[in-house]
Amino acid sequence: MRFRDVYKNNLFMLKFVWKYYKIYIITSILISFSSILTPLADVLGPKYIIDFISQKKPFTWIVTVVILIFSIEILKSIYYSWYYKFITPRAHNKIKGGINNLLMQKAASLDLECYENADFYDKYTRALKEADIRALSVVSSTRDFLLSLVYALTLFGVIVTLDPILLLISVVSMLLSSLFGLISGKCQFKYERLLTPFEKHLNYIKRVFYEVQYSKEIRIFPISKLLFKKYDNNIDKIDSVLKTRGKKLTLLNILGDTVEFIMTIGVTMLYLAWKIYNGVLTLGDFMALYIASRQFSSRLQVFFNSFTQFYEHSLYITNLKEVLDYESKIENSSNSLEILEEKITDISVDNVSFSYSEREVLHNITIKASKGEKIAIVGHNGAGKTTLIKLIIRLYDVNKGEILINNKDIKKLSVKHLRSKIGLVFQDYQLYSASIAENVLLREVKTPEDEDKVWFALKQVGLYEKVKELPNGIHTLITKEFSNEGIFLSGGEAQKLALARIYIKDYDIVILDEPSSSLDPLAEKQMYENMMDITKNKIAIFITHRLSTTVMADRIYLIDNGRVIEQGTHKELMELNGKYRRMFDAQAQFYREQAEDGLAVL
Ligand code: ADP
Repeated sequence: MRFRDVYKNNLFMLKFVWKYYKIYIITSILISFSSILTPLADVLGPKYIIDFISQKKPFTWIVTVVILIFSIEILKSIYYSWYYKFITPRAHNKIKGGINNLLMQKAASLDLECYENADFYDKYTRALKEADIRALSVVSSTRDFLLSLVYALTLFGVIVTLDPILLLISVVSMLLSSLFGLISGKCQFKYERLLTPFEKHLNYIKRVFYEVQYSKEIRIFPISKLLFKKYDNNIDKIDSVLKTRGKKLTLLNILGDTVEFIMTIGVTMLYLAWKIYNGVLTLGDFMALYIASRQFSSRLQVFFNSFTQFYEHSLYITNLKEVLDYESKIENSSNSLEILEEKITDISVDNVSFSYSEREVLHNITIKASKGEKIAIVGHNGAGKTTLIKLIIRLYDVNKGEILINNKDIKKLSVKHLRSKIGLVFQDYQLYSASIAENVLLREVKTPEDEDKVWFALKQVGLYEKVKELPNGIHTLITKEFSNEGIFLSGGEAQKLALARIYIKDYDIVILDEPSSSLDPLAEKQMYENMMDITKNKIAIFITHRLSTTVMADRIYLIDNGRVIEQGTHKELMELNGKYRRMFDAQAQFYREQAEDGLAVL
């Protein structure tokens, strides 16, 4: 990494901090300049006291020096206390908030393929882990850099006036120590990179033990043993990296310190003692020079170490910038700009093929739907049904063929606008730690009309009565994570709540992926009837495993191994006597057997 990049990266971070909390930068610079007072108090103060004593000056002179030192220290203490105890923690909070917010927004706009790319995911994890701390460290390094510079310059003045040769010794000592600092910094970063994948794994396992969705299974199944084992394995792997790193860093540290002590204690002390011995220096001069030279090299060391730190920050900032600069290929592609003003009346998946990485999972799929039509997509697990939906809403782009909406290629349409016209419930829908209303609207409740919309949607999915009885109604929180008054929903109720989302807006297309997997038969029947009702003038696409529901569809597509192998109405497919019929008969047979078994038991 070149010096220019180091400079640019650190400046990038400083500008960032400036944006969120200007006062932190200003007070940090001020603290640097206030450091000019320290050498005066620490070095010249004792020198004058010793000199005045040996020169038998009036005691009031000594008292004056003491009062001066005292005043400087008190002023410094007031300023430092305010800076470190009041400003710094608030700066930490604001900068942490700002940078993490930015990273979360970035995460929300990443293409889904980023989550499948372990390298990018590692970069993102590292950015999230380090970014806020680095932002603060860049400021503190800049502060230390300026502080030690001002401090060292003041000491430089003192030493040059009293003994220039000492200056040379101090500079050589500092250069040697900085060299060791630089090597240590590089070593630290190299090993940090090796640790990331293991730490990511540890965080995952910790999450499993505190997130509520895992709580039942980890109590019942022996999975926790496996996870503990994996946890320990990762701790061991981290330990072996730390061991190798530790050996190198310890050695570097000892070598660095030894060289520094040889120079500062050995060479400097002998040199000054020799000068007093020969009567060239006064006792006061010795005192001042010894303190000044030690402080000078340690300050210069801090000064040059800040270059090492800037270099180290720069490596992390490059990582952060790579994440922040990532542009979603789908959302930001220059041709996805057109806003579709009219309602969606036709959708056509035309000869589409798609592969996630190498393996093609959809092959030459062609599916059509027009306004008012209900389309069912059926097929075995892993056939490619959900993938097809992901392509329609552009979570991924097709590799071959095209998807047309009102005869326009969806790649040309604004992604945000397109998605806003589609009501969708995934099979693995999520509920959030927010109120019932917010979980349905998926945004803030802003107006009384919003509340009406939520009540209407809850009525459609059969949750109205239950929510009505809750003291906080639609404002009740889901889960008890943040409030004891929160509620837990059963699997079926949770699915109903997710389904309520399609009733809050007049969508042009409604897509449901396995919408009734957790519903009881009555609720399922009700759900499909309501859905047929609200989608009269829309396009409805539903993926289902319950073949009894496909009877209501205008057209059924049977997907097998990524290909459409049969299509038509229920009647047509039954007459075709192919795979659909076999699947349907098998399900019907299963229900019959279940019923007969039930009767036999009775
Ligand atoms: P269905 O919805 O029909 O059960 P999917 O569309 O979810 O099937 O999956 C189709 C195939 O694509 C499966 O073999 C699955 O393993 C694979 N697949 C799904 N998601 C991903 C992914 N993110 N990365 C790689 N392969 C995936």
